[in-house]
Amino acid sequence: MPEILPRSTVESGPGPEGSVPASEAARVPVPASGPHRVVIVGGGFGGLTTARGLGGAEGIDVTLIDRRNHHLFQPLLYQVATAVIAPGEIAEPIRAILRRDRNVSVLMGEVQGVDVEGRAVILRDGTRIPYDTLVLATGATHSYFGHPEWEKHAPGLKTLDDARRIRARVLLAFEAAEREDDPAARERLLTFAVIGGGPTGVEMAGAIAGLAHHALSQDFRRIDPTKARILLIEAAPRVLGTFSEDLSAYTRQALERLGVTVLTNHAVEDVSEAGVTVAGRLIPAATVVWGAGVRASPAGEWLGVETTRQGHVPVGPDLAVIGRPGIYALGDLAMAKAEDGTPLPGLAQVADQQGRYLGRSLRARILHGAAPAPFRFKSRGNLAIIGRNAGVVQWDHTKLKGFLAWFVWGVAHVYLLVGFQNRIVVTLRWLWAYLSFQRGARLIAERDEAVMALIRGKAPAAPPPP
Ligand SMILES: Cc1cc2nc3c(=O)[nH]c(=O)nc-3n(C[C@H](O)[C@H](O)[C@H](O)COP(=O)(O)OP(=O)(O)OC[C@H]3O[C@@H](n4cnc5c(N)ncnc54)[C@H](O)[C@@H]3O)c2cc1C
Repeated sequence: MPEILPRSTVESGPGPEGSVPASEAARVPVPASGPHRVVIVGGGFGGLTTARGLGGAEGIDVTLIDRRNHHLFQPLLYQVATAVIAPGEIAEPIRAILRRDRNVSVLMGEVQGVDVEGRAVILRDGTRIPYDTLVLATGATHSYFGHPEWEKHAPGLKTLDDARRIRARVLLAFEAAEREDDPAARERLLTFAVIGGGPTGVEMAGAIAGLAHHALSQDFRRIDPTKARILLIEAAPRVLGTFSEDLSAYTRQALERLGVTVLTNHAVEDVSEAGVTVAGRLIPAATVVWGAGVRASPAGEWLGVETTRQGHVPVGPDLAVIGRPGIYALGDLAMAKAEDGTPLPGLAQVADQQGRYLGRSLRARILHGAAPAPFRFKSRGNLAIIGRNAGVVQWDHTKLKGFLAWFVWGVAHVYLLVGFQNRIVVTLRWLWAYLSFQRGARLIAERDEAVMALIRGKAPAAPPPP
């Protein structure tokens, strides 16, 4: 049974980046008795469900740290980016979600390193948070395949700020086209390129098509939004590569019916303010959205462990980080394997199930010294939505497409949203959008000069704020 150590106060002081040398460990007081301190970094699907699993456990003190004050339901971010729903409808304050778990404290702060020997997490301002058990659930971020300079031209979709910025960019492109006299410049403004044919790219391309061809179709006088060109660019031979070939072929046809041009076997060669270059040809486009690659957060560097090429931290069957006793990793950060040895995908359902497992197993381990059974992932199926009345679902041998899949997708996503109020509001928004073909969240709240410069085809003076 692991040693039960007491709560100790947060320590302040300058802390170095990444792993901390052994000499630093001497500064961490190790109290003799008291509750076992579990520190969880990340309030996404994995971290939040772990904290909930430990909620109310007497003898365990939990501290959840996140750089944001909210938990975000990322699967619906593309709907914020395409003005279907408002940002607040898919986010919930972490503090509010955990308010009933009296043994769980929430700290807003950015973790910058871990003192593995001294057992403390180090925040950006140098504050040290001591732990007995550490759970890392810091997720993943975009990867531009060695071209970080593409990011300012082709934002990815990961946070509420990303979604707001993409929404402003899409809506402002139509506004700028309405004022544009030059036909070539107007065509560039009305060309939207989505890079990456996975679920995020498919959903994004389908939703932009719905916006242009339905919601905005009557609203302009000098341009015809239904003439907007929407491109989905994928390097592999088919879109939705993790689905079966027939569902992938259906998805392509459904996108084409919506007016999306699907370019498979087209690897992106360059992205600039002018547009996107594929197969040696520049396609002028004012709006380019990145949905192609992801990379795990840098937590592997904090621990000084060897990671996969995408930065994933290898974990054992109990989600313990290999070679780092007392430290666990899960969700998009971790490289966990299924029973057949294949790596588990970066999905909310994986992170959620791992969090539930870790909450239960840590509770049993800390309070009763029980060794946990290995984690087993139970797939709840792959789901993707393409557009109005069109979706795909694959679950073992069951395959659905069209309206039924679209409906299942909607019910599943409303059910999984955190917060009763969010579920009601999102359901009503969808009902309204379905009946009226309108989008309720089309306001551009602030004038983003950087976005305007990109729309006009000029590089911004400074990159948009992070
Ligand atoms: C656009 C999009 C659509 C998606 N659609 C689907 C879908 O339809 N179905 C599905 O199953 N999955 C989907 N996913 C994937 C799913 O969202 C992820 O697999 C899931 O969020 C992973 O959970 P996590 O807890 O590992 O990480 P996250 O949910 O990303 O949470 C990580 C948390 O860690 C915090 N954090 C990170 N670094 C630090 C730090 N240094 N200090 C403090 N806090 C930090 C972040 O603020 C964040 O709150 C989608 C993802 C995206 C981006």
